[in-house]
Amino acid sequence: MQKGKIAAIVLAGGSGKRMGGSCKKQYLLLDEKPILYYSLKAFQDSPYIDVIILVTNEPEYCMEELVLKYHMDKVIKAVPGGKERYHSVYNGLQAVEQKSVCDYVLIHDGARPFVTGDIIKRSVECVEQYQACVVGMPVKDTIKIADEMEFAKATPDRKCVWMIQTPQTFSFALIKNAYEQILKDTPEGITDDAMVIESQNLAKVKLIPGSYENIKITTPEDMEIAEVFLNKQKCLEK
Ligand code: C5P
Repeated sequence: MQKGKIAAIVLAGGSGKRMGGSCKKQYLLLDEKPILYYSLKAFQDSPYIDVIILVTNEPEYCMEELVLKYHMDKVIKAVPGGKERYHSVYNGLQAVEQKSVCDYVLIHDGARPFVTGDIIKRSVECVEQYQACVVGMPVKDTIKIADEMEFAKATPDRKCVWMIQTPQTFSFALIKNAYEQILKDTPEGITDDAMVIESQNLAKVKLIPGSYENIKITTPEDMEIAEVFLNKQKCLEK
């Protein structure tokens, strides 16, 4: 078991535009519970996690319908999301600092409901050794880099290409400092947290296996896939 105190930031501050429809994707129902329920529950149930900060622009709904209803007592604060994902993360980091002293932080997309206790455990064990790690999986397809005219420009060696997921896990001091530095400008194209470290050469970020089921719900067909994964889980539990 780990030595340091560990926080999780669960991000649900996005607008979910790519899903279409009026309900934000993190609140769509999977087996009668919002997607966000499953993400929060994994961190609530993990013995590795001490506190959870929830980033949401619907704090009343989340508090009543998730945190209180399902007794998620590790959720110590809800803070608003920002314009871009990285603004939301920074709001979460500030809340972690205000609320408790933490050694490590896991940053997780609330729209990834299939994060597991094992993935959280692997992340915590790894961050204690490397200070920065992210979960992902090797790609199955060949990847092409396209030029501006959408012609193939390069084909990276598939063995070296990973699809990156969350949680992304860091020493708290390292990631807070990295975000503070990068937010002095107006950064562009920051789509995950590891990039914030990589772009400043602050540490080497270790890649560790997540799972092919740890998908992010983004477009409507992801909901169909999610139903299949959830039904499989329910069958295994029987
Ligand atoms: O938009 P994307 O699919 O990359 O979002 C990943 C996660 O980050 C989602 O859980 C979403 O709610 C969250 N997010 C956020 N604030 C934003 C944009 C995204 O908290 N401004």
